[in-house]
Amino acid sequence: MLDKTLTQLAAGLAQGDFSSVELTQAYLKRIRSHNTDLNAYITVTDDIALAQAATADEHRAAGNAVPLTGLPIAHKDIFCTQGVRTSCGSRMLDNFIAPYESTVTARLAGAGAVMLGKTNLDEFAMGSSTESSYYGPTRNPWNRDTVPGGSSGGSATAVAARLAAAATGTDTGGSIRQPAAFTGITGLKPTYGRVSRWGMIAYGSSLDCGGPMTQTAEDAALMLNAIAGFDPKDSTSMDRPVEDYQARLNEPLAGLRIGLPKEYFGDGLNEGIRAAVMAAVSELEKLGATVKDISLPRTELSIPAYYIIAPAEASTNLSRYDGVRYGYRCKDPVDLEDLYKRSRAEGFGAEVQRRILVGTYALSAGYYDAYYKKAQQLRRLIRDDFQTGFQEVDVILAPTTPSPAWTLGEKSNDPVAMYLEDIYTLSTNLAGLPALALPCGQVGGLPMGLQLIGNYFEESHLLNIGHQYQQVTDWHQQAPVL
Ligand code: GLN
Repeated sequence: MLDKTLTQLAAGLAQGDFSSVELTQAYLKRIRSHNTDLNAYITVTDDIALAQAATADEHRAAGNAVPLTGLPIAHKDIFCTQGVRTSCGSRMLDNFIAPYESTVTARLAGAGAVMLGKTNLDEFAMGSSTESSYYGPTRNPWNRDTVPGGSSGGSATAVAARLAAAATGTDTGGSIRQPAAFTGITGLKPTYGRVSRWGMIAYGSSLDCGGPMTQTAEDAALMLNAIAGFDPKDSTSMDRPVEDYQARLNEPLAGLRIGLPKEYFGDGLNEGIRAAVMAAVSELEKLGATVKDISLPRTELSIPAYYIIAPAEASTNLSRYDGVRYGYRCKDPVDLEDLYKRSRAEGFGAEVQRRILVGTYALSAGYYDAYYKKAQQLRRLIRDDFQTGFQEVDVILAPTTPSPAWTLGEKSNDPVAMYLEDIYTLSTNLAGLPALALPCGQVGGLPMGLQLIGNYFEESHLLNIGHQYQQVTDWHQQAPVL
């Protein structure tokens, strides 16, 4: 039962093959057996899950089922969930019980979903490996000595190891797509502004995007249907009608024009990943797509631009954690300055402090023009490169990551080496574009993936291509043996 996709489980519930309570109990049991080892969840909400499942079964019996009624999913612990600890992977928020519900989790609950718990992440979503969490690293279920990617590594491991039918994630610079690739699942980063950020703890506000992490593109469409749409509580939310993201899944791909950006296939790319991505391109050609080489010349500059802009926004966003209003407070402060300094020094981990220092420096008078303004100019050029590309092709196809999952601890003491691994995902966030990560092979027993990047609000097209690809391949069905 737990190997089924969200869509298959929805059908099973509708046919009465099992109840939501039975399904939820099965997931909770599997979580109990494997979470100590994998550390995918920070908090498991057994009681809430079973109560929601019982309500879901009642709704179904009364003929009031909606698309996600009774389906058990997990939430990245960056989404505020009312009455439930929302830690963001930080000691700073270890004692924080959210007083309100994020729009994403509220919409999923409104669509009938059951919450199994809150998943592990890099502290404040800063990282690419889920090693910087205050709650310890999450392990990759394909090989426990390797990282699951990050920052949404807990959600990725939960879905890959079948500890949840699907999960939410957030993507500021790749945090949905890269862990999806490292664990062999599907992940969608929507267009900036398509999914509300309200109640999602802020990292880089001009980059942050919530989205689905699932087994299949079809499931991602099902989840996106529930979470996409205008939210007056988020000033950057787009007031634009929502499509039915499942409507185009079965459209044929004949005539599709795919662009392969040469900068994403250069020297740093693992040869096994290159071969697997090119094999996927051949599959899409068989389905009627044509392929063209394109160039996104400013790709390399996405790393310096992002690693100025994201820390700059983080440094302002994190100034709210001052030991006064909520979150961690140091013991026995001697005065206000001591309270601020020690609360922040003790509450934040090393990577978060590093980002605050970099961001504050880049924003300071005298350096602002040299760093922050320059980075914003690069950001515009990176966006323009994509628009030039989209004049020639419908979608852009590239690897999601340059290498497969690395060994735990391997890059922990070398932040720059870790940042460089984000080379293929950062540009999309800087441009605000949607991108879908799909598993497309394995290298040395570890999954890897490709990504499809679309123009603004082209989610349904990306999901269509992903679904068609998953009709003729079975990488998305491969699961680790626990
Ligand atoms: N690895 C990137 C960073 O550390 C992206 C993280 C994310 O998307 N949240 O900033």
